Amino acid sequence: MASGSGSLMWFRKGLRIHDNPALQYAAEGTKFLYPVFVIDPHYMEPDKNAFSLGSARAGLNRINFLLESLADLDSSLKKLGSRLLVLKGEPSEVLIRCLKEWEVEKLCFEYDTEPYYQALDFKVKNYASTAGIEVFSPVSHTLFNPTDIIQKNGGRPPLSYQSFVKLAGQPSSPLSHTLSSLPLVGDVGSCVISEVPTIKELGYVDIGQDECSPFRGGESEALKRLNEIKIDKEWVATFEKPKGNPSAFLKPATTVLSPYLKFGCLSCRFFYQCLQDVYKNVKRHTSPPVSLLGQLLWRDFFYTVAFGTPNFDQMRGNRICKQIPWNDDDELLTAWRDARTGYPWIDAIMVQLRKWGWMHHLARHSVACFLTRGDLFVHWEKGRDVFERLLIDSDWAINNGNWLWLSCSSFFYQYNRIYSPISFGKKYDPNGDYIRHFLPILKDMPREYIYEPWTAPLSIQTKAKCIIGRDYPKPVVLHDTASKECRRKMAEAYALNKDLNGMVSEEDIRNLRRKLKEDPEQEAKNKRIR
Ligand code: FAD
Repeated sequence: MASGSGSLMWFRKGLRIHDNPALQYAAEGTKFLYPVFVIDPHYMEPDKNAFSLGSARAGLNRINFLLESLADLDSSLKKLGSRLLVLKGEPSEVLIRCLKEWEVEKLCFEYDTEPYYQALDFKVKNYASTAGIEVFSPVSHTLFNPTDIIQKNGGRPPLSYQSFVKLAGQPSSPLSHTLSSLPLVGDVGSCVISEVPTIKELGYVDIGQDECSPFRGGESEALKRLNEIKIDKEWVATFEKPKGNPSAFLKPATTVLSPYLKFGCLSCRFFYQCLQDVYKNVKRHTSPPVSLLGQLLWRDFFYTVAFGTPNFDQMRGNRICKQIPWNDDDELLTAWRDARTGYPWIDAIMVQLRKWGWMHHLARHSVACFLTRGDLFVHWEKGRDVFERLLIDSDWAINNGNWLWLSCSSFFYQYNRIYSPISFGKKYDPNGDYIRHFLPILKDMPREYIYEPWTAPLSIQTKAKCIIGRDYPKPVVLHDTASKECRRKMAEAYALNKDLNGMVSEEDIRNLRRKLKEDPEQEAKNKRIR
């Protein structure tokens, strides 16, 4: 059974009504509109083997954020006389079935540069073109079209922020037209449609309040947050990154708009325009790369490089990535992942990641540097995987780009500049309030020991009800020696990359790894008894 003369709006990201060119076009000149979201069980349903609650691909906080965003979208669609049609299954199969059954004439969805969506969209577009269905897939997740920028740069992505900004120019404005109603949903035939499920309906037990992210998903929440930010003109005008306090958690030092941008609950073009409006109304304001508008350009920068770089998400076969003989030490990786490194600053950040799915940029810097070139020398891809799962703003291009950056594999090469897991956090938060909040086991540790509790005399540890080595771990490595070792390894790896002009083979890496292997005595010295 089909309605005919319908269009299908396929929501994936872009979970919003405002500035949504795909939705607007889908709604034009059509009798019926089918707003669809397909739940991919692989992405959403519980996987008992994963290291944290969640599916095979995503932690529970992000799944919850997505469900909240979908519920908000459904409620906005209902206000416009429509609703969200939720279907379940492998997305391309489900979609093609809908296109057939509903005799859709026009298929609209936001263009996506991620490899996963490129492959998925290829299948769907192929079907649509053989079936004579019009496809409209505009770029609206980024300020600029990465393809245009790469073309302007002679076919290769610009590899520095400055060259990117020069090429980019001004982004197009967000749509000014707001939708006041939408066409009716047509007959859905035999397709199984559901309401937006709850987390319980997906098979999860309810997450305790304590374990769950304080940030609610959805376009309404995103616009509310943006409004509050806009009102504080002074704050916007003086925003300067990397200044700002990474340990501020009651009132974060940055916007926390990243999860809304990730799912497209907020249009980056609208955000950009709002910032420009604020700038027009103040005497002075900061500028890119440090300004808030500059942060949005960082986002687009990484999207462009990621799109134009084959194998961007790995070391092998990635021409912009230095080849480095990282360790495969699962014990160290797990200690980092599970907040058991023995460095309270690092562990508190990893707890915030697990509980909130969001941390300040410099907190991300600290733990990414610690895992890779700073202390543990573990492969950046392993850390990337942990972030990819647990962040609510987990974003393929930005996450990989920043891990490449922090591990000094690409973009940034000053490997001698290492964040101290002790003094860096202390600079912002000498009393350790952030640590006390996320690691309550240390809440009674006196201020002078909070960043290095293993140095506290036993009597103090006893009084603080936290014996190091029993209630909280000893440090997994000694920062001074471990960071020195890391610098040595990085120097050797950089020299090899330079000598071979970047053409480093697997065998070269293996040889360097053998050469760098410390004598076991040194290794034992580096690792304290766990
Ligand atoms: P604000 O400072 O308020 O910035 C506004 C927006 O600008 C952000 O929401 C984001 O969309 C963009 N932005 C800010 N900083 C960056 C940056 N360095 N690169 C690209 N875009 C930026 N950000 C993600 O959105 N998803 C990720 O998966 C992600 N992984 C990261 C991994 C590592 C190792 C590091 C060091 C950083 C990562 N970031 C990621 C970048 C950055 O930390 C976050 O975007 C930022 O902290 C989000 O908070 P905010 O929205 O308050 O940022």
